[in-house]
Amino acid sequence: MDSYINNLLEINRERQAELGRSPRAIVRTFGCQMNVRDSETLEAMIINMGFELINDENETDIELILLNTCAVRENAENRVYGRLGTIKRLKNKNPLLKIALCGCMAQQEHVADTIKRHYAFVDIVFGTFALQKFPKLLYTNLIENEQIIDIKNSQGAEGVLPQAHSHVFTHRHLAKKAFINITHGCDNFCAYCIVPYVRGREVCRPLEEILREARELAKDGVVEVCLLGQNVNSYGNDKNSGAARKGLAFASLLKSIAAVKGIERIRFMTSHPKDLSDELIDVIASEPKVCKHLHLPMQSGSTAVLTRMNRRYTKEQYIELALKIKSAVPGIALTTDIIVGFPGETDADFEHTLDVVRKVRFAGAFTFIYSKREGTPAASYEDQVPANVTRERFGKLLSVINPIIYEETRKRTGNTLRVLVDEKNGDMYKGRADNNALVHFTNTADCVGEFVDVKITQAKTFYLIGEAVKQG
Ligand code: SF4
Repeated sequence: MDSYINNLLEINRERQAELGRSPRAIVRTFGCQMNVRDSETLEAMIINMGFELINDENETDIELILLNTCAVRENAENRVYGRLGTIKRLKNKNPLLKIALCGCMAQQEHVADTIKRHYAFVDIVFGTFALQKFPKLLYTNLIENEQIIDIKNSQGAEGVLPQAHSHVFTHRHLAKKAFINITHGCDNFCAYCIVPYVRGREVCRPLEEILREARELAKDGVVEVCLLGQNVNSYGNDKNSGAARKGLAFASLLKSIAAVKGIERIRFMTSHPKDLSDELIDVIASEPKVCKHLHLPMQSGSTAVLTRMNRRYTKEQYIELALKIKSAVPGIALTTDIIVGFPGETDADFEHTLDVVRKVRFAGAFTFIYSKREGTPAASYEDQVPANVTRERFGKLLSVINPIIYEETRKRTGNTLRVLVDEKNGDMYKGRADNNALVHFTNTADCVGEFVDVKITQAKTFYLIGEAVKQG
């Protein structure tokens, strides 16, 4: 184990004797699955340092608060600044409380400057490249009691793989499900997106390393893995992975993971439409362990907007691809991301977006109002869309897409779906079907962590309701 973790463990043992309880820590995660996965690694470190992880932020007796932040939208950043205001009051009451900020927002220089100037009570700021250094940073801050900022991009021009994330050193929230990182960073530079600047260039993990992790997870009781990458479809495009050709490499990675004994379901995200291969469609169609759900971000339905976004596909190519997938994999749930109000978007452009929505008929969508991100090309585009126009279009998009999502969800009524159960909430169990549909259902026996066949009796827009076929 990291020697800094051992040092912190020693310190926390002494504190435990003084406090009469374990020192407590809270981790708050903002943003995407990548951050959730990073937080699992950080939480494992924190537990090994001798902290008790708690969830209640109103608790005043806390010794460490870590915010793992997101930079994709301004709103996410504002929420973090707002949270820091609340945390400051806790620190005023308890000067021994340590506050750390990490993740994509923390990786940006202007954020680090703001923290230095206006949030001197934050003890540690560390970026996406310094994740594994957290124990050292915390230990140093405890000894020296001076604010530390570590946001160096350690990749250089070539791009290097961040230190391996081994599942052994992970605090998984669900015993049966796990994330596996297959790529880090992104080379696509979509004009609105900050990710390539804060997560670095795309680097693929070697195939053997990924397979080893999948085998270890299976041995540990995991039955469902979700492969993570900013663009999983470009897995294999670098020397690290040792793979043959992009597209083909990801399809064959899925086949290799499907061969791992004990792994029963495989999910992945996110897929860039420009790199989605026919081989991948074949694997989704033919491999029973690969879930029948594909998240395929469209972003806009207008070719002109897509070009300015640097997405490298047209409206027609997106529709053709989506319909090809739906016909090759009957029943597949296709979900998407849509941005409204990208600079220069006209009413006619927006109508193209609605047109694609109507033609493709998504099973779910993350819809966003364009958020200007400092440092991205789109932030300097002059023709920003006025907020009132964007809001109106956003409302219209929801009024078109939500009924479609409801109709697609309703088609599952009467079906029996195999659900992997995540949790019990009141009288209802909650889990996900193969097609990623969220299912709430009743059962007379405890079934958390198990696969249960559920007969669907009712559909809501964003989830299904049912009952276990075999009660007990
Ligand atoms: S593919 Fe585009 S939107 Fe996705 S992370 Fe990369 S740059 Fe951002």
